[in-house]
Amino acid sequence: MQYTSKFFQTVCALSVICLTLLVSSPLALLAFSDSASPTPVSDPPNDQEDPVPENKYTIPNNAIDAYYMNENPDNPAIPSKPVYDVFTVEERQAQGLVLEIPKVSPYYGQKVVYLTFDDGPEPENTPAVLAILKNQGVKATFFVVGNQIEKYPAVLRQIYQDGHAIGNHSYNHIYRELYQSTNSYFSQLRHTDEIIKNIIGVRPRISRAPGGSAGSFTKEHWATLKNLGYTEVGWNISSGDASSAKAGQLVNNIAAQMDNKNLWSHATLLMHDGRGHAETVKALPAIIKFYKDRQFEFRVVNFETPSPW
Ligand SMILES: [Zn+2]
Repeated sequence: MQYTSKFFQTVCALSVICLTLLVSSPLALLAFSDSASPTPVSDPPNDQEDPVPENKYTIPNNAIDAYYMNENPDNPAIPSKPVYDVFTVEERQAQGLVLEIPKVSPYYGQKVVYLTFDDGPEPENTPAVLAILKNQGVKATFFVVGNQIEKYPAVLRQIYQDGHAIGNHSYNHIYRELYQSTNSYFSQLRHTDEIIKNIIGVRPRISRAPGGSAGSFTKEHWATLKNLGYTEVGWNISSGDASSAKAGQLVNNIAAQMDNKNLWSHATLLMHDGRGHAETVKALPAIIKFYKDRQFEFRVVNFETPSPW
């Protein structure tokens, strides 16, 4: 009996020592603390997140204050903002999405002007134009050429980030290639869309035919334009900067055409920011002043922009 009791006491003492060693051991504590630590709340398991469908409409990461067209055919009214599409024509066709543009009432104001610049981006004139526009707090519309964008993608990115509207103005602007057939025209538009989308993540829905649509567009051009959902944008005032006119003359050209008050509700002014158009840059502050002095509203081209004629 005494022997059993001593054995029991020894076992008990050994157990206490073992337990003490275990609890006080840093390794044991570490193991205990690891197994007991809760999963951080800020890091939920992946399988609880909603799966994002591949074709789901998402606003691009570099989104600006613009209207982004999505897959929804019932587009709401379009406010006075640049319009961009998250899908190309090919993507819309492949996914069975609506191609045609939504019906929007044209906006006629008392005094409205759309400043438009063609043939850029260009490394000197375009940044100079952007600086003037920023300084004056004015937004404009740039009809850009695909092979120029390939050379100066950063300038295109700046146009976009500054909140201006961007339109498609063909890939190479070479009339004999562009107007060879309806197909050649639209393949240049599609190609330029791809280039633009690769740079800013979205593509334009407005376009301007190099040299203007008059004399170049057939019925087939207009039908295809409608089916594919492009909006052709002409002009009703020319700065005359395609000539070698000096800055002062450009301002006078514009002022003379603005005598026609029928244009005040939707004055669409053609200018160029491409190579060799330094005089346009020089004239721009005076052109903006002309419209500001007469309390004109500066708007960007979108679906609300009326046909110039
Ligand atoms: Zn042009």
